[in-house]
Amino acid sequence: MVASLCILMSIAALAFVLFVEPDPAPSEADVLMAPLVRKKEILYENLRDLLFEFRMGKLSDTDYQESKRVAQAELVPVLSALEELNIKKMREEATPPKGWCARCSHTNPDENTFCGNCGAPLKSKKRK
Ligand SMILES: [Zn+2]
Repeated sequence: MVASLCILMSIAALAFVLFVEPDPAPSEADVLMAPLVRKKEILYENLRDLLFEFRMGKLSDTDYQESKRVAQAELVPVLSALEELNIKKMREEATPPKGWCARCSHTNPDENTFCGNCGAPLKSKKRK
């Protein structure tokens, strides 16, 4: 009895793992950001380790300052690239969807040239 319950539970768990919907496709900015975020985390960890070793007396002050300078110099371009991508991502997210009326905020079908709600002309975007 207990054994069959266990089997049922593990089947349920497996089904859950297999059939849970995957996350929506990440945006271009997300894809570009992922390795940078990882690099940033590694560099921050290195800095923490350095500070720790310095406090433990394993590093001389000169060595610590020098290693810290090197790590920080590596960190700066990573942080500014991340910042740039963040801005890009926010801009992407702020772009209203096609068919969105700027006057009344009504969302129209893509093919509409005028808003179905208030009649305002819709900005036509490039069509394929
Ligand atoms: Zn409208």
